Amino acid sequence: MLHQGVRTQTRPPVGAVRGTPPSLRPCCDSYVCPVCEQVVELTDFRQVVWHQRPGHQPMEMND
Ligand SMILES: [Zn+2]
Repeated sequence: MLHQGVRTQTRPPVGAVRGTPPSLRPCCDSYVCPVCEQVVELTDFRQVVWHQRPGHQPMEMND
């Protein structure tokens, strides 16, 4: 009875090791504002609020 050493379920499930939540993916955290054509970072609440105002100017970026 030496057959018990062979198993097929030792591999981890494929696709179960994703560390980044969908909401924080680099491809989805910014958009181009249709009013001022500036890139809006959705992770920055100040930018989101700013670009929701009608007829606004591009936000000044103080880096
Ligand atoms: Zn804007």
